[in-house]
Amino acid sequence: MKYVRPDFFDKFVCKADKCEHSCCKGWEIDIDEDTLELYESIDNDIGEEIRANIVRGEQASFRLTDDESCPFLREDGLCRLILTLGEDALCDICAEHPRFYNELSDRTETGVGLCCEEAVRLLLEGSGRLGFLTEDDGEAETTDSAETALLQKREELFELIFSEPTLDIAFEKACALCGLRMPEGKIYAWAEAFSKLERLDESWGIKLGTLEGSELTVPDALETDSIALKRLAAYLLYRHFVRYGEKTVLFAAVSAALISAMVSAGGELADTVRQFSSEIEYSDENIDIILKELT
Ligand code: SF4
Repeated sequence: MKYVRPDFFDKFVCKADKCEHSCCKGWEIDIDEDTLELYESIDNDIGEEIRANIVRGEQASFRLTDDESCPFLREDGLCRLILTLGEDALCDICAEHPRFYNELSDRTETGVGLCCEEAVRLLLEGSGRLGFLTEDDGEAETTDSAETALLQKREELFELIFSEPTLDIAFEKACALCGLRMPEGKIYAWAEAFSKLERLDESWGIKLGTLEGSELTVPDALETDSIALKRLAAYLLYRHFVRYGEKTVLFAAVSAALISAMVSAGGELADTVRQFSSEIEYSDENIDIILKELT
């Protein structure tokens, strides 16, 4: 069995109280069954407080405060559960976030999700081609041949992204490799399509609004040799290609083009990527809608 991770993965450390966009705010926090059992067993004041802040139902979760924060997030950005009970008392989602895992037949691919500002920093600040580290525990697994073909194609796409001078040429060739056509239409039309999706934060709509009236097309916006945008495009393929297949190329092209255009319109790259990821990448429903529009 192989375990794959991006080469910056081991550098990830949560910024905790230094984080400007804490994941302890604005997201639902589901509690897994083992942790729920632990919370039921804590026989002291904090145990009672935890239980009073659990919303029960098919899926237990923490009751968020009026500003949608975790009830145990302190004003200084630290977590009261960690401070009083230690990291082992965190539910799976808090312990694992922002890590993601893609389980394949003979490998697990992991990474840190771009809704986290520290993950974005590590990805974008890398100076060259996005690299991956692989460990093999020596246990032979049956390899799925369709999966092998998919991974081989993804490697070819990575190669195009980093060897072609600009992203428009790379994506033109990537589309041809996958029997697809480069997404058509003006960037503002794609911004409009993205703005109709379910939204977490109204400021995302304002950011998309900066593209109103833009005459740029998707290839125009991708006419860049920015290594940061190349690493972003490759990372989108790394995370989503094994799930959505070849049409991920279209999703990555339009997403990178939108982000590139928003940055040209005055946006800040890292924050635009973070918000794109939170709003789009973390919603299966939103990705499905965009993929439908693209195919
Ligand atoms: S968003 Fe990232 S850095 Fe910020 S609190 Fe969450 S895991 Fe930590």
